[in-house]
Amino acid sequence: MRLILLGPPGAGKGTQAQRLVEREGIPQLSTGDMLRAAVAAETEVGLRAKAVMDAGHLVSDEIVNAIVAERIDQPDCANGFILDGYPRTLIQADAVEAMLAERGQKLDHVIEMRVDDEVLIRRVAGRFSCAKCGTVYHDTDRQPTVEGVCDTCGSTEFKRRPDDNAETMRTRLWNYYKDTSPLVGYYHCKGILKTIDGMQSIEDVTDNIDAIVSR
Ligand code: AMP
Repeated sequence: MRLILLGPPGAGKGTQAQRLVEREGIPQLSTGDMLRAAVAAETEVGLRAKAVMDAGHLVSDEIVNAIVAERIDQPDCANGFILDGYPRTLIQADAVEAMLAERGQKLDHVIEMRVDDEVLIRRVAGRFSCAKCGTVYHDTDRQPTVEGVCDTCGSTEFKRRPDDNAETMRTRLWNYYKDTSPLVGYYHCKGILKTIDGMQSIEDVTDNIDAIVSR
């Protein structure tokens, strides 16, 4: 199964992708995570991408398309994958279609997650994660059960993304509505778009996604 989770930053794409990984046994391909890894490793791509990401702008289509094209040829993608945060522009949407066509593959589902702007800004501005395993927490909505200790792995180190602040979030949202939201129409025309209410509880969103992918 090959699916795209489409939605603005903070919509819950990463959280739901993690759940799909566990249930479907296919990998989550998050271009944001791949780019952050390149920044941390100070590769040429990472050095080019860092300032753009910190400002909340989009990295070039050329760079991102190349990263994804390489990633989907890895053996763990043979049975499918979940694209999280990609494609984000119409050029990227055309690119993924061409990549899949070259490999005799196609997209099964595109799931759009809708969440109100003020909720997105609040979610992202309070977001932090375990530095070791990546479990995501929130300043008010989801603190670790024992303060300062990760529920999943017991680590005591946490981190915040430099672009997870209210000001950069406004730029990221602007970019979403300007560059990414046209993909809603693009996939609607192709007949593979499903839209779900991302304001529901995490469990209810998961149930909605399950109902779509098991059809
Ligand atoms: P994310 O983790 O998906 O919120 O992405 C974090 C940042 O990485 C974005 O604000 C962009 O700067 C960059 N990025 C991630 N995915 C893409 C993409 N598909 N196209 C362009 N830039 C991206």
